[in-house]
Amino acid sequence: MLNNDIERVLITEKQLREKVEQLGKKISSDYKNSDNFLMVGVLKGAVVFMSDLIRCVNLPLQIDFMAVSSYGTSTESSGVVRILKDLDESVEGKDVLIIEDIIDSGLTLSYMYNILKSRKPASIKICALLDKPSRRKVELDVDYLGFEIPDYFVVGYGLDYAGKYRNLCDVCVLKPEIYQD
Ligand code: 5GP
Ligand code: MG
Ligand code: MG
Repeated sequence: MLNNDIERVLITEKQLREKVEQLGKKISSDYKNSDNFLMVGVLKGAVVFMSDLIRCVNLPLQIDFMAVSSYGTSTESSGVVRILKDLDESVEGKDVLIIEDIIDSGLTLSYMYNILKSRKPASIKICALLDKPSRRKVELDVDYLGFEIPDYFVVGYGLDYAGKYRNLCDVCVLKPEIYQD
């Protein structure tokens, strides 16, 4: 059973749904004059959030995905990022909104932001579901944020530990013994 590994729920499915609707409304209003709106999801963690979010945005838009690997341990990133899968199409002249699951040190996203910015988009902004501000190592402007959370390692709603728990409907804290094994 997946649920047996959970210590507690940090953000419920209902809270997530309400927040995603709010973010969708704000994004719909901010991008209403864009004729080239592209949402870029960061694989794999952002997939669940992004699939809910795009259905709350009432505008024409396109989606694309990028996969990056950040060298480091399973719970900590080093900031050295390798592109595992690049975007399918050019971002030049587009209004790019990067969709990320969680910002921790900020190193991964800051690296991606700089790469995409160098490709001459018309504009570029960041939308993240979760943020752990206490862990930040680089300055990063987050334009749309779901929730600030304390320094817990969380899983669910797309976020994994060792590839698992992405299909949980809530954002959860794992039992300590799961990491200690
Ligand atoms: P950063 O480069 O900001 O330190 O790390 C960002 C990436 O680390 C996130 O996109 C995510 O993949 C992973 N990460 C950071 N904190 C957590 C967490 O609490 N839970 C999970 N599952 N992944 C995290
Ligand atoms: Mg991520
Ligand atoms: Mg992960």
